[in-house]
This record gives sequence, C-alpha cells and structure tokens, in this order.
Amino acid sequence: MKTGKVYLVGAGPGEAGLITVKGLRLIKQADVILYDHLISPELVPIAGAGAEKIPVGKFAGQHTLPQDEINRLLVEKAREGKTVVRLKGGDPYLFGRGGEEAQACVRAGVDFEVVPGVTSALSAACYAGIPPTHRDCTSDIAIVTGHRRDDGPMEVPKAGTVIFLMSVGNVENIISSLLRAGWSAETKIAAVEHATWYDQRVIEGTLDNFLTVAQKAILRTPAVFVVGKVVEMRHRLDWFAKKPNVLVMGNHTQRYAYLGNVVHRRIIECVPVDDYSAADIVLKDIASFDWVVFTSVNAARYLFQRLTAMGMDSRAFGPARIAAIGRSTAARLGEFGIVPDMVSDVESSLGLVEEFRGMDMAGQKVLLPQPQVASSELELGLDEMGALCTKTVVYKTIDCVPDPVDFDFIDIVLFTSGSTVRAFVKHFGKVPANVRCLCLGRPTQRTAAEYGITAEIAPTEHEH
Ligand code: SAH
Repeated sequence: MKTGKVYLVGAGPGEAGLITVKGLRLIKQADVILYDHLISPELVPIAGAGAEKIPVGKFAGQHTLPQDEINRLLVEKAREGKTVVRLKGGDPYLFGRGGEEAQACVRAGVDFEVVPGVTSALSAACYAGIPPTHRDCTSDIAIVTGHRRDDGPMEVPKAGTVIFLMSVGNVENIISSLLRAGWSAETKIAAVEHATWYDQRVIEGTLDNFLTVAQKAILRTPAVFVVGKVVEMRHRLDWFAKKPNVLVMGNHTQRYAYLGNVVHRRIIECVPVDDYSAADIVLKDIASFDWVVFTSVNAARYLFQRLTAMGMDSRAFGPARIAAIGRSTAARLGEFGIVPDMVSDVESSLGLVEEFRGMDMAGQKVLLPQPQVASSELELGLDEMGALCTKTVVYKTIDCVPDPVDFDFIDIVLFTSGSTVRAFVKHFGKVPANVRCLCLGRPTQRTAAEYGITAEIAPTEHEH
C-alpha cells in the first residue's frame, strides 16, 4: 500500500491566482482535500473528479468541524495511504492552527509537509495600496490577533506598522489599546475587507474617528486592519481598486484580464459525450481533410483526448491544415505540438470566416470538431465559399448554476457568446444600471439586443 502523507497547503488570501505553484500541483495530485471556507471556490474543483473533497470551513466563532475532528480526519485519511491536502486560507502557520495540525501528524507518526501561502496579513495591505514597510515610514511590522481568549486589554507590540487579524468584533478594544500604548489619535487605520476578492472594500480613518467610520460602513468579515504611517501612501499606490471589475461567464476567462479584474462565474461545464462511435469514424480519417478548424479550447482538448483514446497522436493530421479561433485555442493546440496554419485575431466564428475569405475554399474538405450544440455561423460562412464541411461532436456542455454576484462591485459584464447572454438573464435577471455591457462579436451583440441589453463590442487586447 502507498504510504499516506499530509500536506498543509496555504491557499492564499482569496484570489485563486495567489496560490503557489507547488500548492496547485499538490491539489492536482490529492486523493483527499480538506478545505477551509475562506479559500477561493475555484481551487477545490482543480482536484481530479476522483478526489474526496471535504469542507471543514470555519466561520467566525462557529466551526463546521471542531479542530480535533479535523486533526483526526487528517491522520485517518493519511493512514489509509492517501495523499491528503489540507487547504488552508492564507498561510497555514499564521493564525491558522496549522501548527496544531502538524503536531497531530507528528503524534500519529504520519508524514507531513507544509507549503507556505500568501498571507492575508500582507496581501490585504498590498491590495489596499499599502506597503507594510517603507523607508520613509517604518521598517518593522507586528502582526497581531484581535481575537483573544480573554476580553482584557491588549498588549500592542512596539512596531511602526501593526496589522490586526480576526478583529472585526473587537475594534473598540483595539483602538483604545493603541491609544493607551501611546499612538497618536491622528494615526491612520485602514480596514481591508474581503481582501483580494472582487468585493474588497477599504475603510479608512484615524484612531480618533475610526469607530464612527467603521460603524457607518458596517464592516464585513473577513477583514484585516492596518495601522501606521504607511496607510497614508494608499492614495497614490492603490493599484487594485483602480481596475474595473469585469464579470465573465464561461470557461477560460483569465484571457480577458486585460479588461480589468476578472470575476469569473461558471455557467456551463464541458463533459465528454456518451457515445464517440460517430466521431471515431471521422477521426480515423482525419488526414483526409484539407482543414481542421478548432473553434474553442475545449474542441482541441476533447479531440485530442479522443485521438489518445484511439492510440493516435498529432501525426494523425497528416497534411491537413489547422485553424484556430483566437490565441488561447492556438496555445492549447501548441500543448499538443501543433502550430496552427491560421489563427483568427478576432475570437469569433465570424472572425474565422473573415480569415477564410481571403483563401480559395471552393471544394476544400473542412472538419469542424464541435460541442453537441453549436452555432452554425462558421459552417454557413464556409458553405457560402463552396467548402465541404463535416461536423463532428467531441464534447457537450451542461448548464450549472453560477455562484451569486454582488453587482454593487461589478463595473462591466462581458458576454463572450449568445449562451452567456441567455445564462445571465436566466440567473441574474436585468443588468443593473451601474453596469456597462461588452460583448465579443456582432452575433452576441444581437442576442443581447434581443434581451433588451445594450452592449458595445469589446476592445481586443491590442486595441485596449
Ligand atoms: N492563515 C490565515 C489567517 C487565518 S485567521 C492567513 O495567513 O491569512 C483568519 C483571519 O484572517 C480573518 O479573521 C481575517 O482577519 C484574515 N483574513 C483571511 N482572509 C482574508 C481576506 N481575504 N481579507 C481580509 N482578511 C482576511
């Protein structure tokens, strides 16, 4: 039997991209994942479908699973020979009780490793535009918990910057402790709520007025408080709040990061079809086509999965030429050793049709690997040019319900296809007045108009 092992992995403060490369690799390899509630919902699904996913999240004061139960589970799963990833918010060893989990492993004789994470203590400051140390202000920081086992006055350590975690319920005590320790009433304090998330808010005041300011703002958890002269730098260095928040539905949304801070909501899931017998017949003869046109990253992924299942590889294409819709699809093909002969700049079926218009397509045999339900624009366009199109279904999409969105924090909605328009209307209803709509191509713009949504064509990355 394989020997089990526990990995205490820091997931970062919230934004999925802030996990480490090592942490991400371990998630992919995990047999079991035990995860906190403060981590990005995008991280857990990265584990294979076969991995057991156990939420053990802790909410302020209310533990879904008591700590000793978590410790017991870690040990039990590792003893079954499993690779156990304990995915913890921020850094596992900073106020995360990671030390206790490691001790439990040692006591049980279970092998363990710790993967540090980006802590909320520092990233909250960073995403609020505050460098926790700065030559002109201070060279030392203290990171303190505002949540005490007893309710007595706090000892504030001596440091130029003090960062408080777990403090939302204890603001009054923190302020009076700072004043008692000799901090001036004019000292700046900033609360950074939901740091690194799209709905991050920074509430700023001085020790003098912060209680009133915080009461008015109605602070949300989780939040980090940053106190000290460095907070004054925020107004010039606030890089994160400057970016618009862009809601993008669908998959592979990071490619739109040039438009702003991508808020991703999944509305469909791509899955294999039940029966590949029709596709297999076509794929066996794939070299007989003049062109194979990939209209999505998923088309590439599933076609290659099928080729692999049939014991074939990239050589199966023979002399067939290959086209890709946009750069991400081209990049995906690159992973299979294929450099497409043609890549459309505009990531839409019509963009591809335009590219083909410059060529003599009459009589050309074109294969279109597609999802079960696909738009017919590309096929119609190619038909018009006299090409002979064959469609083959390599995957299908199933609808899923997106997580809720707080539209107070959304600046732009990007519709990447007609189906994203329909999903938006179905799940979120009307577009709120404060939100601007963009879409990738004319057909999507038309679908939006059918639903009464006025959308502009999104700039491409070059135009931006
Ligand atoms: N190990 C974690 C901290 C766990 S204690 C880390 O390194 O970040 C939980 C506290 O972390 C919360 O009470 C809050 O103060 C802080 N916290 C965690 N995620 C946060 C976030 N996204 N924004 C602001 N504070 C956060």
